[in-house]
Amino acid sequence: MSTERMKAEEFWNREHIVEKFWKGLADGVIYARKCKECGAIEFPPHIACNTCGYHETEWTTLSGKATLKSFVRTGILNARLELEDRGLKYVCGEVQFEEGPAINAVILGISKKKAKEVREKLPVAVRPVFFDMGRYTTLFFELDE
Ligand SMILES: [Zn+2]
Repeated sequence: MSTERMKAEEFWNREHIVEKFWKGLADGVIYARKCKECGAIEFPPHIACNTCGYHETEWTTLSGKATLKSFVRTGILNARLELEDRGLKYVCGEVQFEEGPAINAVILGISKKKAKEVREKLPVAVRPVFFDMGRYTTLFFELDE
């Protein structure tokens, strides 16, 4: 295969993966990629495996069951204005899916007062919120209580 053709194919694959990922969220499905070699799960999805470097991964979905391991309340420089505008309380934290991958995510519904309470209980269970931002749907979390 020519280098040009490979580049075009790689580009197409990447676009395809990004598109499927966002469409999935709009439908309430969390798509990830599973490595055909070592079984590691890539989320957000990548074409290649970041764990072993193998070039082939395949589609899988995540259950959405996850754990909040740590979090920070945001300050003025890293505030999510689209959430502030909606008057929502939130924090940003490390969320680990039951299937393995960990991401930095927004956890909704945690006020300053609630943050104190939650911090003492970490790690805590969280569940996905498929949040309609208007132009697209994104993945946030909320406490599973
Ligand atoms: Zn791998």
